[in-house]
Amino acid sequence: MPGMTATTAPLQHGRLGVEDPATGRLIQEVPVASGDAVREMASGARQARRAWAEAGFSARAEVFAAARRWLIANQDRVRGVICSETGKTHDDAQVEVTVAAQSFAFWARHAEKYLADERRRTASPLAFGRRVTIRYAPVGVVGVIGPWNYPLVNAFCDCVPALMAGNAVIMKPSEVTPLTGLLCKEMMDAAGAPPGVFELAVGARETGEALVDEVDFVMFTGSTRTGQAVMERAARTLTPVSLELGGKDPMIVCADADVERAANAAAYYGLNNAGQVCISVERVYVEAPIYDEFVGRLVENVKGLRQGPPTAPGESEVGAITSPPQVEIIDAHVRDARDKGASVLTGGRARNGDGRFYEPTVIVGVDHTMACMRDETFGPTIPVMRVADTEEAIRLANDSRYGLQASVFSRDRSKAAAIARRLECGAVCINDAQVNYTVFDAPMGGWKTSGVGSRHGAGGIRKYCKTQTIVGSGPPLKRDLHMFPYTPKRSRLLAAFAKRVYGR
Ligand code: NAD
Repeated sequence: MPGMTATTAPLQHGRLGVEDPATGRLIQEVPVASGDAVREMASGARQARRAWAEAGFSARAEVFAAARRWLIANQDRVRGVICSETGKTHDDAQVEVTVAAQSFAFWARHAEKYLADERRRTASPLAFGRRVTIRYAPVGVVGVIGPWNYPLVNAFCDCVPALMAGNAVIMKPSEVTPLTGLLCKEMMDAAGAPPGVFELAVGARETGEALVDEVDFVMFTGSTRTGQAVMERAARTLTPVSLELGGKDPMIVCADADVERAANAAAYYGLNNAGQVCISVERVYVEAPIYDEFVGRLVENVKGLRQGPPTAPGESEVGAITSPPQVEIIDAHVRDARDKGASVLTGGRARNGDGRFYEPTVIVGVDHTMACMRDETFGPTIPVMRVADTEEAIRLANDSRYGLQASVFSRDRSKAAAIARRLECGAVCINDAQVNYTVFDAPMGGWKTSGVGSRHGAGGIRKYCKTQTIVGSGPPLKRDLHMFPYTPKRSRLLAAFAKRVYGR
């Protein structure tokens, strides 16, 4: 099936400059989609979506098989583009490519199973004998709005189940990282997605608002504040939303933990993608008996990390800060902690020179009066707090308006599982962190102000559908009240039937 190219967005005004955060250089300018352009895309998507829905799961799976082949064949180029507009390391960009390839395969394989018609044996005596079927019908046109930290995974991977369900999708990448979005458009065209089925609307807030106004469902990933604005706007048209928002993920390290494993995990999951991960380890609570050993190992690990532009695979562990205002937020958190008496054991400042880099940072002597323990930092900082026992750790972990994820480290897996159940968040990893993101079979979503709804699992594709319940007349028809005419006799029978039902 022939595809359209990314430059075919019908009406465009204005251009967007894309910067390489690792060098500070302007690398490309791309046209912005105006409100009118978004409306035209939505109208084209509406026309395209019926044939796409009717094409069936196998045809759609074939497109994603081709997209996966394209991604793997072009992975060096994709990694290069991701690195150039985010400043992340090659390894961090590789994670995006690997997760995306896995996502295409997963949804191509499982979408049909999750959306198959469901038969129910009704327990209702009033519908006795009826054949009840629930079917999942695609909502129509889905708008996917993404952030800048994972331009492939956190934007396009949410399009995959929406498309596999039979919807047309318009994706709006972050204005900071639109180039990966352009590649996704190229990939879907090359894979044979019909014109109008997958469109790209490049732009900032205005483009996002226009998209929210036009679509039948909004899948939003970004900050809690913008998520609230999106939900408010979507309420005007009663458009359903799914929101994946910010986090302040706690790590609890129990006295019986494997300290080396916990410290390694804190360093990696606190600093991968330069800490710009919604499910980063953003705060650590360590039980007193192992606190000194944990901090010693963590600081040693963090001091050895290399930071710099993504020149080649394996050349640095910690990349750049992608979005310009983020450096000031990170620095404000570190300054606030210092001002209130915390100690910075390594790092603690923005690097001088080209590009935007913030040194990998470990802070101790922190408490919950400090912004670094309460607000999302979204940077390469790891604040560590000594706690008397697990009770204190659980209390502090739950003392947050966020509830995205958490991790618990203990050699006693039953104890860790019991702690997990007391944590107020959407996912908990035991002796690990972040890994649940790759478990596509299970939901990932935030509690409290970290989100509404979830991605992945059955719910992660059913949310892109409307349910339709079909109640058919089934045997045995002779026990059905409709065999009697609508007369007083029928009323007497109904009353007798009601008596039997109430008597049960
Ligand atoms: P952001 O909220 O600033 O922007 C996200 C997207 O919303 C961008 O594409 C932006 O252009 C668009 N937007 C802005 N205003 C809008 C409006 N009024 N209507 C519609 N769209 C609008 O977020 P960000 O700074 O790009 O991303 C960082 C945030 O994303 C962090 O808080 C992080 O935790 C969160 N995040 C969450 C997850 C998750 O799965 N929970 C994943 C990645 C990132």
